[in-house]
Amino acid sequence: MVDATLSSQPPARDETRIVFWLCTLVCMGAAYLSFHGLTNPWDRIGVPIMSALYGLTAWCLWRFPERMNTIIFTALVPTSLYILGGVYMAAQDTTATGLFKLASGSQFMPVFYIGAFVALQRGANLICWLHYAGLLGLYLFQYGLAPRSSLPPQAAMNAHVWMVLLVAQPACIVALHYITALKGRLRATELASHQSKERFLAMLSHEIRSPLQAMLGSIDLLALKAQTPPERRAVDRIRTAASQLDTHLRDVTEYTRLENPAWQLQTASVDLPALAQEVCDTYLPQAQSKRLDIVCEWPQQDVLALHHVWTDGGRVRQILSNLITNALKYTVSGRITVRVGLDDTHDATARIEVIDTGIGIPPPDQQRIFEPYVRLDDQRAGNVEGSGLGLTVVKRLVERLGGEVSLRSEVGQGSCFSVSLPLSA
Ligand code: ADP
Repeated sequence: MVDATLSSQPPARDETRIVFWLCTLVCMGAAYLSFHGLTNPWDRIGVPIMSALYGLTAWCLWRFPERMNTIIFTALVPTSLYILGGVYMAAQDTTATGLFKLASGSQFMPVFYIGAFVALQRGANLICWLHYAGLLGLYLFQYGLAPRSSLPPQAAMNAHVWMVLLVAQPACIVALHYITALKGRLRATELASHQSKERFLAMLSHEIRSPLQAMLGSIDLLALKAQTPPERRAVDRIRTAASQLDTHLRDVTEYTRLENPAWQLQTASVDLPALAQEVCDTYLPQAQSKRLDIVCEWPQQDVLALHHVWTDGGRVRQILSNLITNALKYTVSGRITVRVGLDDTHDATARIEVIDTGIGIPPPDQQRIFEPYVRLDDQRAGNVEGSGLGLTVVKRLVERLGGEVSLRSEVGQGSCFSVSLPLSA
């Protein structure tokens, strides 16, 4: 059950990154050893091959991160053969040097097992026990079942070291398997708890939002009937409260969803300028009611690259909506500009900026507003309501899309929220 849940999950971006760097390190370490101090023929052939193999593995991981399991499994098979070959070759040398090589070469076996259990979501047990079976088979091939006392003294010492390996290694594999299973069970419990929380929130949100939508519709009707200024003010207050409740519910549901480790991107080719224009158009009536201008612009020379950005369009729309909603909330007069373009400083990166001429954010608060539930005590914008989750959701979404969000702001002059997104998430 645990394995089924885990195996259906693609490896996390962080895990792939760690394994990528480990492979790069192995490649560089083996390349260094190839040029310095390799004493026996087996290593002189095997170590450069290992260096090339791990270089290729790192490249494959960088290119096809979603296939991490297959890539690492494929790399571990020749690694196992190389380690076993090294042990066998060392055992042929019945001098003190052979014993030294056998003892030092065997240090790589626990590293091999740990590497397999860290990098593989499936098949770690299989490859480790196969490796162990190879070690056992080679021992039997070399020494048979004869007692060690019948061997020459130096060969008996080699056989003793080999036997110690055979006795100790199952404990290592079983311990790693146990830890991995425990980790899997914890992850499955965490996923289940997130899913039930999400189901509960979705149900709650549906149960509350449906009547809320009906109320908002009726409030509009009521507004038409309101005759006197006090009546109109009362209707306005009801409308504001109802739409705040709606926003709070949306923010909390979204925030909870983002906390779920099983949350996945829905990537496709996205026309970024068209999407930005569409979102701006949605907010046009709201901007007009506050007598604000809202414009969307992009440089003509970037259009070709921005037409086909491989990302999650729904999430980009949500990021833009949250930033434009804030710009509208915290701007009293002037304009809101949404600028889409290619990033001048980073290759293959798009940049989306939402610029307003609003109240601005003081420097000490510019970092902390991205934390959950942080709201500035703003009298300047007329005490607008909010949940303090909008920017947290933006930051998390941008990070999931592989980008970054930054802010430039001057009090009284306005703010510019800048989102950089890879052209291929
Ligand atoms: P909310 O807007 O619901 O309070 P957010 O997380 O979106 O929550 O924003 C956190 C705080 O950051 C806001 O309460 C506001 O004080 C400040 N803020 C966000 N966007 C802007 C902006 N464009 N101009 C000025 N202040 C802003």
